[in-house]
Amino acid sequence: MAQRFDAIIIGSGQAGPALAGRLTGAGMSVAFIEREHFGGTCVNDGCTPTKTLVASAQAAFVARRHRDFGVTIEGTIGVDMRAVKARKDAIVGASVDGLTQWVTGMPGLRVYWGQAHFTGPHRIEVSGEELEAEKIFINVGGRALVPDWPGLSSVPYLTNTTMMAVDFLPEHLIIVGGSYIGLEFAQIYRRFGSRVTVIEMTPRLIGREDEDVSEAVQDVLAREGIELRLNAKCIGATRTDRGVVVSADCAEGEPRVEGSHMLLAVGRRPNTEDLRLHAAGIECDARGFIKVDDQLRTSVPGVWALGDVNGRGAFTHTSWNDYEIVAANLLDGDHRSVDDRIAAYALYIDPPLGRVGLTEREVVASGRPALIGKMPMTRVGRARERGETLGFMKIVVDARNREILGAALLGLNGDEVVHLIIDAMYAKAPYTVISRAMHIHPTVAELIPTLLQGLTPLQ
Ligand SMILES: Cc1cc2nc3c(=O)[nH]c(=O)nc-3n(C[C@H](O)[C@H](O)[C@H](O)COP(=O)(O)OP(=O)(O)OC[C@H]3O[C@@H](n4cnc5c(N)ncnc54)[C@H](O)[C@@H]3O)c2cc1C
Repeated sequence: MAQRFDAIIIGSGQAGPALAGRLTGAGMSVAFIEREHFGGTCVNDGCTPTKTLVASAQAAFVARRHRDFGVTIEGTIGVDMRAVKARKDAIVGASVDGLTQWVTGMPGLRVYWGQAHFTGPHRIEVSGEELEAEKIFINVGGRALVPDWPGLSSVPYLTNTTMMAVDFLPEHLIIVGGSYIGLEFAQIYRRFGSRVTVIEMTPRLIGREDEDVSEAVQDVLAREGIELRLNAKCIGATRTDRGVVVSADCAEGEPRVEGSHMLLAVGRRPNTEDLRLHAAGIECDARGFIKVDDQLRTSVPGVWALGDVNGRGAFTHTSWNDYEIVAANLLDGDHRSVDDRIAAYALYIDPPLGRVGLTEREVVASGRPALIGKMPMTRVGRARERGETLGFMKIVVDARNREILGAALLGLNGDEVVHLIIDAMYAKAPYTVISRAMHIHPTVAELIPTLLQGLTPLQ
């Protein structure tokens, strides 16, 4: 006999707990299934721990720059990797505990620990128990993609998950993949004191961004002594006495890169192959992401997919937004669609990159008449006062209706300042709302009106 619930949530990702709160709040009985730990990727081996590491690395970086600020420090500046990890673990642990208490305290909710899989469209098996519900919500996230290089299984490699256990300083960390996750780790470990080499197969870092953004990010990292190997496709790795050798197919430079440790940061894959989705008839795309419509409904009525697993986003905020969309449609009679979402994210190197909407390249490709404004961070008084003048801010505007189409803010507080652009874009406000606003001095945001007052046609 299957246990019957009003709803089943599979995976404690970034949407699941909040959705459980809304469903139980509406009086529903909920089975909540998790196979590993509450909080999913973001809390355990994604956003939260990496941002604690970014903070430790930044403290080390600023401490080494003490003379720039007229500060004297006796002796050498070192990093205690065990203490760095302990701080990270404490912050992660507090989040996991808080979340666990919240979820387990929800009335009408029962937690099942184990690997869930479908046995029918509305039937789930977990740890030998059968569960049934009219409504099922899949929030199982993804994990690091491990390439199929021959012999890789006999080579010690790190992923974002196993990096979380590192409490020592790798002598020479090779990072395969020059995109968002790889670059954050690159700067973190360089600032901790490791030699770091990033190997990227395309001609530039973060290839989704505009070329000027990639170049400026490359400059930030190269200034700190991070070695960058572009146009180098990794094709294999072998274990050595001193660590690992990565073989690269490259026109220039050494085809073998030897290091003490190797981190694979070549992409993410959805956790769908062990869900037995075929037993329910739930359709996936060729890469294994669950197909959903604009309300995040799967091909099976009564089954939704939220978070990274639906391929509509790859961030905590997109997963959270998925929860809001599903809850609004299901419980509030408020029609919300994922198609209304504006792409926004940040790259947490220092200085950070805040991004929203279209890139300059995408706007040019769209053929619409547009205006562009660009300003180096050296013009921002607050950045000069802080001694953090690397980067630039760029905003692209539709020349016809004067709405903002996109922005890239690489510089001090770029991850925060970008929100004033995000909100103006959601409001569909003309850029003049910002360019005529009075902002506070001295801030980075005070220069956004000035930047917008100087827009010129985008060729
Ligand atoms: C290194 C790194 C840094 C990141 N930094 C940021 C950042 O700064 N900002 C940001 O917005 N995003 C960041 N991300 C992305 C972010 O972590 C993810 O987008 C987010 O966690 C996705 O959440 P989710 O809801 O899809 O599920 P997840 O958080 O991935 O959680 C899924 C849960 O489902 C469970 N599960 C999976 N399969 C099953 C099953 N069959 N049965 C039971 N349970 C199952 C898993 O154990 C897990 O707990 C980062 C990611 C990484 C890897």
